[in-house]
Amino acid sequence: MSHDTDVFIAGAGPVGLTLAMDLSARGVRTTTAEPRRFAEPPNVKCNHVSARSMEVFRRLGIAGALRDAGLPADYPNDVAFRTSVTGTEFARIPIPCRRDRYTDTSGPDGAWPTPEPPHRINQIYLEPILLRHAAALPGVTLHNRTQVVDFTQDDGGVSVALLDLDTGATRSVRTRFLVGCDGGGSTVRKRMGSRLEGTAVIQRVQSTFIRAPGLAALIRHPPAWGHYSVNPRRCGTVFAIDGRETWLIHNHLNADEPEFDSVDRDESIRQILGVDEQFEYEVISNEDWVGRRLVATRFRDHRVFIAGDAAHLWVPYAGYGMNAGIADAMNLSWHLAAHLRGWAGSAMLEAYERERQPITEQVSQFAMNHAQAMIKARGAVPARIEAPGADGDAIRAAAGRAAYELNVQQFCCAGLNFGYFYDGSPLIAYDGEPAPGYAMGSFTASTVPGCRAPHFWLRDGRSLYDALGCDYTLLRLQRDVEVEALVGAAHARGVPMALLELDGETLPPEYRHRLLICRPDQHVAWRGDDVPTDAMALVDRLRGATPA
Ligand SMILES: Cc1cc2nc3c(=O)[nH]c(=O)nc-3n(C[C@H](O)[C@H](O)[C@H](O)COP(=O)(O)OP(=O)(O)OC[C@H]3O[C@@H](n4cnc5c(N)ncnc54)[C@H](O)[C@@H]3O)c2cc1C
Repeated sequence: MSHDTDVFIAGAGPVGLTLAMDLSARGVRTTTAEPRRFAEPPNVKCNHVSARSMEVFRRLGIAGALRDAGLPADYPNDVAFRTSVTGTEFARIPIPCRRDRYTDTSGPDGAWPTPEPPHRINQIYLEPILLRHAAALPGVTLHNRTQVVDFTQDDGGVSVALLDLDTGATRSVRTRFLVGCDGGGSTVRKRMGSRLEGTAVIQRVQSTFIRAPGLAALIRHPPAWGHYSVNPRRCGTVFAIDGRETWLIHNHLNADEPEFDSVDRDESIRQILGVDEQFEYEVISNEDWVGRRLVATRFRDHRVFIAGDAAHLWVPYAGYGMNAGIADAMNLSWHLAAHLRGWAGSAMLEAYERERQPITEQVSQFAMNHAQAMIKARGAVPARIEAPGADGDAIRAAAGRAAYELNVQQFCCAGLNFGYFYDGSPLIAYDGEPAPGYAMGSFTASTVPGCRAPHFWLRDGRSLYDALGCDYTLLRLQRDVEVEALVGAAHARGVPMALLELDGETLPPEYRHRLLICRPDQHVAWRGDDVPTDAMALVDRLRGATPA
């Protein structure tokens, strides 16, 4: 049976769109079904695009367009801790505005080893940019108002059943692979028999998206992107969405407030903002959500995969659900492309679940632990945190130190960006040295196979990542090291491998070997001082043709 497409993607959220973009760059045809109308906005939820995701978007050619959107160019991305949004400020995590993002290195994430620092932009601005870019790419077909309702698969491919939401008509499409990027309620996940497991409810949050043109004028401190409102009556977080008049308010319900409507929404908003009953605002939408920690039992069933929220859901501390989903997409994309181009071994398709599932489990634990620490902190707000004078100042100073220490690791989460490593992958040639551990806010750069290749700038001003090939890249740190046997073995197996000469470059100290192979997703696949005697065995390992 012939195939209508190579990869069918259920869902044009940020993860599905990123997958479509990267597959297009690899010459793979995709078809995407999305129930929303073209450019119909998503929920106003995600605000943080990680450095790692921006590195991906840089490679896909849209980092600039994303960086130019969101908050006004000079609007600080700081996080402020106050007694209410209009109250007294007692701590601030400095994060540069997007105008200064590449040059201001003074803040806690300013000196990160990346060509693309993090970016703050709400999903309602992010998605239209991804969508328009993806829709214009070669090989990308998008069907709006279309829902995946079922699938069946056999050795040759997958038949996907689609429902046209406008006409009610159903039809079937034949594809080589199906990827469910269809969000938390994923039909694909359910139909493939995978279950979400973990903690179903950590926290209920009553969230409201408002328009309040008068709020900014009442704030007595410099603008901030994120605001923690800390007082004994009602704690909440507030995010600036357009940097002018729209705000997203999260009212974190307490354990004795089990329903979204357990507390008066308007009264809570006024407590969090610190405004009286005369203050006017308009509710744009209610965005209530449950903080969870759930990871799917399986990410793959033969030719069917799930990625993003379809595969994992966790409470958005550190703002990492979408970012982890983008990392899923970038991992799966080149595995599928390698298979379709005919150079992958059978373990290539196994690698996605074996590499990504443990990472999402780790990130989910970091996020849940942070959620529990925040629940504890909200239950221990000093009664006199709003007191005037020296007494109140001392209480606020202590609270500010604690709030900064606890939260800098989530807003500047270096470990989540750069620290994770693929352990036990069938595609990586390990050499016995253990990868360094990481925490949410910290990591140790390393070239241990499985780690992200430490970033550095080349003499000609390019980022290392800009110089890497689309597939594997062999980094040669000394020009006289013989590499012909390895390049020849890759060629013989049809594995694309570019050679990057780094002799004379100033490299970080982690680069201790004379040779290193970087994967398409910038993780280290192998390192050594010389090409191994059996170069073909190494190439077979990288392409998933060696039993793990
Ligand atoms: C309050 C809040 C704040 C957050 N902040 C951040 C943050 O700062 N950073 C971050 O990284 N993450 C954040 N997240 C998480 C982030 O919003 C999600 O992880 C992200 O949207 C997941 O993207 P996705 O593409 O996997 O799924 P979704 O965004 O849910 O997209 C799924 C798509 O699939 C479509 N779909 C559904 N069913 C079907 C079907 N049967 N067939 C075809 N298509 C279908 C949907 O219409 C939708 O377009 C936050 C979440 C919340 C609740």
